[in-house]
Amino acid sequence: MLNSHIHLDFDNVNSPSSSTTGVIIPSTGKDNWDSVIACCHSNDNSYFALGIHPWFVKDHQMIDLHDLEVRIEEEKPIAVGECGLDYAKVKDQNTQRFFFDEQVALATRFDLPLIIHSVHATEDVTDLLKSYSKSRGVIHAYSGSLQQAENLLKINFSFGFGTSLTNPHAYKLHDIVKFLPIESIVIETDDRKNPDELIQVAERVARIKKITVDQVIEQCDQNTFNIFKIS
Ligand SMILES: [Zn+2]
Repeated sequence: MLNSHIHLDFDNVNSPSSSTTGVIIPSTGKDNWDSVIACCHSNDNSYFALGIHPWFVKDHQMIDLHDLEVRIEEEKPIAVGECGLDYAKVKDQNTQRFFFDEQVALATRFDLPLIIHSVHATEDVTDLLKSYSKSRGVIHAYSGSLQQAENLLKINFSFGFGTSLTNPHAYKLHDIVKFLPIESIVIETDDRKNPDELIQVAERVARIKKITVDQVIEQCDQNTFNIFKIS
């Protein structure tokens, strides 16, 4: 079972048990590019992404985007991310949009998928992605509306779901999972302390989709392989 988004380099995140057969470790900015790369050097079936998270754009400058480009060329990440827009947490929308736009441009230039963080900003995220016809990837920890999911599906983006889906009262998220084709869904635990909660996410998807947990795991693994071109 693959975990499509886990911050394994964070001190508060435990290592998963052997039920997890592979992980994708996104970075949050220049301060942890080295540590996510190091995490993957010591582990087979661990893959890193390089990017600048919207929470941390304030700690970055133009030159860091140039460094990011150089690191992508040298280190060959499987994706650019995580990057995106978070209008709930970060007030300066222009700076966020600038850094996100530049990273979408980088991803398309290197033909890489994006790992996107989007909170209260899904309209703007979608508009920006639409302006790059070759952009592709995952909206991780999806929290937008059903209508917005439909729009993102039209441009072939996939959707990451984590432990918030396991809340029995998360009706809106459950409806979105019900609506989405299983081929567009991947599972994750993000910065949760216990990454073995991943199985509970798979179980919830299975219950919503009325298929077996094994089918969910097999399909979500395949989706992750396809999006990130790993195997
Ligand atoms: Zn994350």
